[in-house]
Amino acid sequence: MSTAVTNYQCPSCTGPLHFSAATGKLECEFCESSFTPEEIEQLYSSKVEQAEENFTEKQEWTEDGVIQMVCPSCGAELICGENDASVGCPYCGNPSVVPGQFSGMQKPDLIIPFSKTKDEAIEALKKHYKGRFLLPRSFKNQHHIEEIQGVYVPFWFYDGEASADVLFKCTNSRTYRSGDYRVTETDHYDVFRAGKMQFSQVPVDASTRMPDKHMDAIEPYDYSEFKPFSTAYLPGFLANRYDVTPDECKPRAQERCCESVVNALRGTVNGYSGCTVGNKTTQMSFSKVEHGLLPVWMLYTKWKNKNYLFAMNGQTGKVVGDLPVSWVKLLSIFLSTSVALTALLSLFFE
Ligand SMILES: [Zn+2]
Ligand SMILES: [Zn+2]
Repeated sequence: MSTAVTNYQCPSCTGPLHFSAATGKLECEFCESSFTPEEIEQLYSSKVEQAEENFTEKQEWTEDGVIQMVCPSCGAELICGENDASVGCPYCGNPSVVPGQFSGMQKPDLIIPFSKTKDEAIEALKKHYKGRFLLPRSFKNQHHIEEIQGVYVPFWFYDGEASADVLFKCTNSRTYRSGDYRVTETDHYDVFRAGKMQFSQVPVDASTRMPDKHMDAIEPYDYSEFKPFSTAYLPGFLANRYDVTPDECKPRAQERCCESVVNALRGTVNGYSGCTVGNKTTQMSFSKVEHGLLPVWMLYTKWKNKNYLFAMNGQTGKVVGDLPVSWVKLLSIFLSTSVALTALLSLFFE
């Protein structure tokens, strides 16, 4: 029997605890007690450490890349995926954590806990759908909407300095009349600028499961709410390990920072009617990289073999989502309007 999985039990009644986004505390559904993550972490540190040790020593993965574990609450079989650090039991619904998934290099430094609740995420999703008459029915199904899940997504945060040398090609033009001609005179200028900027905690998402464009779109997060990482924030949410290394993510951070420096330099070039970027060289040196988890509410909807993702920032509530249009509905609207139109026209010509 594997003990690499553990849960946080209520110190008053031993019921399972889950982290509440509304209060920022671990709560017990049975006796309604609540505890701060720090209190719980202290109380269960040896239990969590033990589960972490068990994981690294004798974990047996199946060929599908999953591990079978036993739910500490009800004894049912739990399936834990390759990158899952937090699992919900399909039988009793109680949350468990797999601390070993976050050991060694995988251990996050920081976490922003959820502050938007599941109810708020459902509300936001319904609002997102509101007025979209052409949305296929499977999206609006209440059962499906309730499957929305809170996921801690792994990120790398980079500190560093980016510098750029840029040659801007600038112009000033004036137009005047001379006899029958309209004359335009253009002066060309080479404007040179160089500068550097310091960056701290530039985020790049470190999971291939999350589409980059969605993650970029639900930023920003307020980093002043970063807390030192603890598995006590996980019960009730999913948490993923990173599967893209800090070195692999570096180019994205570099691109972002260098672009910011070039834009800042561009902002100092004034007094020209036209300005484009000519030759440029950019450089970036990194001084620190940290690993952190950010909260995201998300729901995938499969429709016609395509996945559509709704995502909401679990801290600020900012949403992003792509939606299809149901051609059946569109066609029926088109047909009913054209039937009405034909009826109107025939009435008109009679
Ligand atoms: Zn309790
Ligand atoms: Zn269970």
